[in-house]
Amino acid sequence: MAIHVRCGTLFTGNEDIAHKSQTVIADDAGRITHVGPSATAPKPEKGDKVLDYSDLFVMPGLHDVHTHLAYGNAKTEEDIDLYQPMEFRAIRGLFFAQKCLAAGYTSICAPGDAGQISLSVRNAINFGLFDGPRVTAAGRYLTTRQGLTDWYPTWIGVPDTSIGRLVTSKDEAVEEIRVQAKNGVDCIKVALDGFQRRPDGEYIAAFTQEETDVIVTEAHRLGRKVVVHARGREATLYAARAGVDLIFHAYYLDDECIEAMLRSGSVIGPTMTFPRNIVDFTRPTEPAHIKGRIGAVQREYEDACANLRRAREAGIPMMTGSDSGFAVTPYGEWHAREIEIFVNDLGFTPAQALRAATSVTAGFMSNGETLGVLEPGRIADFIAVDGSPLENVALLQDKTRIRHVHLAGRRVEVPPRGYDPRQVTDQAWTNWNDLYTQERVRELGIRPERRQAATQAS
Ligand SMILES: [Zn+2]
Repeated sequence: MAIHVRCGTLFTGNEDIAHKSQTVIADDAGRITHVGPSATAPKPEKGDKVLDYSDLFVMPGLHDVHTHLAYGNAKTEEDIDLYQPMEFRAIRGLFFAQKCLAAGYTSICAPGDAGQISLSVRNAINFGLFDGPRVTAAGRYLTTRQGLTDWYPTWIGVPDTSIGRLVTSKDEAVEEIRVQAKNGVDCIKVALDGFQRRPDGEYIAAFTQEETDVIVTEAHRLGRKVVVHARGREATLYAARAGVDLIFHAYYLDDECIEAMLRSGSVIGPTMTFPRNIVDFTRPTEPAHIKGRIGAVQREYEDACANLRRAREAGIPMMTGSDSGFAVTPYGEWHAREIEIFVNDLGFTPAQALRAATSVTAGFMSNGETLGVLEPGRIADFIAVDGSPLENVALLQDKTRIRHVHLAGRRVEVPPRGYDPRQVTDQAWTNWNDLYTQERVRELGIRPERRQAATQAS
């Protein structure tokens, strides 16, 4: 039984314009067999299903390359690493993965989570036990002393339930990559930023260039992509030179980094939603505000905008990701804010930002060549939106506008179900900040800042 989707407007993910009165046809395996004007589309055969979305905007399902399924909307690092048992975190991860799907995100990458949580969620969905988005899964971050995720004092180390896996030599790094590959991860996550800084404030990379090269070579040899956390210039440069597939943040990149990326093909996942939400939402009474952190985040955001615009103009592709999984970026709430930021602050047109969130970001996902574009041969993952995101990308953040979500042609519905963060997440003694769902932000009377789109030619 095929489905025929009559689309009022269709954005394929392949071009910058949308087309009126189009029909998408998918076979019973969920593969697209035809896309074109409704007037000339093949007629439905007996038993085929016709969906009338003639008042809606149909586009590929959205992709978020940066959603940590095990974090649980955490308010502290300890909540991420310590308090909840791994088994509970996996069940919770599945619950939250469904929230992402309901928001129109049919594909997410979980780049760094404790244990085998993300790949278990992925498998439970792939095996048909539960509905959920397609998940591209990493295991624990490879980290080293001084590195991100090695938070605790040396006498505690990196606990087994942490998102990090401390490797203290190249051999240990290679061994960990082999373990993770055997367990079935799709990609290897590396914490490439260190905590130590030079006198001028620059972050020192956690791993050396040589160590980074060894890690990337082994991961690629085993057919795994590599994604790194690198805000600092040095970590970004090492990653780009080593041919890392995806670099998160890259806020302090310079021309040398851009050249290395152009040579190696590394792309950037800026992940601006996380700092933007911290600046816009958190209040002076919250620990997130201590030690002038908010001012520092705001300054870093502005520096990042300037640097990332240069990278974009130089031709570095950018993927959309939100760092969902923190209390400031709860699942299913702010993923599409990244698209709005791409337009307002990074110089993308709405169409370019939508393509970033679909066909471009699909490029990092497992089987990404079958996703992200509505064209014959690809999988029919799509959403039907009330209104045109080309006219206003912000409306993708309005959950009531995401009218239908389809995975491989099939319409999926996630029952709306709330939860109490005090039971589900918060176990730590102190918190960074409140849980900022869209409802909470409205309740507090906060209006996420809508800034003027940055001038295109900067
Ligand atoms: Zn992250």
